[in-house]
Amino acid sequence: MSKFWSELAKSLEPYTPGEQPKDKKYIKLNTNENPYGPSSKVIEALKDGANDNLKLYPDPNGDELRKTIADYYGLKDEQVFLGNGSDEVLAFSFMAFFNPNEPILFPDITYSFYKVYSNIYNIPYEEVKLNKDFSVPINKLHHSKGGVILPNPNAPTGICLSLKSIEEILQFNKEKIVIIDEAYIDFGGNSAVGFIDQYPNLLVVQTLSKSRSLAGLRVGFALGHKDLISALNYVKNSINSYPLDRLALCGAVQAIKDEEYFQETKNKIIETREKVSQELKSMGFLVIPSLTNFIFMSHTKIHAKELLYSLRERGILVRHFNHARIDNHLRVTIGSEEEMNTFIRILREIV
Ligand code: PMP
Repeated sequence: MSKFWSELAKSLEPYTPGEQPKDKKYIKLNTNENPYGPSSKVIEALKDGANDNLKLYPDPNGDELRKTIADYYGLKDEQVFLGNGSDEVLAFSFMAFFNPNEPILFPDITYSFYKVYSNIYNIPYEEVKLNKDFSVPINKLHHSKGGVILPNPNAPTGICLSLKSIEEILQFNKEKIVIIDEAYIDFGGNSAVGFIDQYPNLLVVQTLSKSRSLAGLRVGFALGHKDLISALNYVKNSINSYPLDRLALCGAVQAIKDEEYFQETKNKIIETREKVSQELKSMGFLVIPSLTNFIFMSHTKIHAKELLYSLRERGILVRHFNHARIDNHLRVTIGSEEEMNTFIRILREIV
């Protein structure tokens, strides 16, 4: 390893993804995947796409998918950028919009990749402490020097900001880029997409990994002013001309088009989330009201780490974060109704 990389490796903590066990015995409630498979139309498209054309490179701009997404959100094609999962879109955004001279702002606690990107791309940052109730103190996100990034809803708390609050952040940062990471927006929040024509400093980032059941296909996208999209394309074209393969492109088109399946599955998840939240409260858990496909919870008597291990021993994986303020919390993905019934049953044996 060169000296540069060994020094960097010592000073940086990379992002640690949730466990993906090879063993199927676990009920996986640790990485916010969708318990329902993708739409059958997606599967058909993938089967159709597995043909001789795979010898050819895919469309570097993903025109059909960009048009499908643009039509869905009432935007122009030139306002859509595609990436290999929204993580890649976020990484490109850090490179395109933030710089080493002006600190950006993001909440502490939030999606841990923001700090990782800041460190690796040499972008200074200030973390804005969440309020006691874990809500984001909006006024502290005014007047950033280098831009703002935050997920809405926030992760791992699940708390969603109103559009009024998002607009306030945009208003106060008119000269800077504001990135709203809407990975979980489809589970009950209101998207900031409607602000795009009014605020050329807004970039909305979304993913097909959660509400569209396609974490394994790796498709994410950004929506914003065409100049922001051009900047992202510049970065992309300097790194990888074909971030999305042929199968991802054709499967994703069908995922966006199958509105009926999308509505049905995400509504089921919302319904299960509400039911599980009520049950957990009745068992003595503190549950933060969530507008996502996960629940952030703690118990007054049993420590989160003890619960984590006890659940794991009984075949259930959930997520714990090593961060002092949330050390006693668990993030639990909303699985199918059946999985969540098992989760509650097993939890009752533990608490
Ligand atoms: N943003 C947030 C807040 C997330 O939790 C995740 C999922 N880990 C992502 C972005 C990235 O999702 P993906 O790369 O699968 O699109």
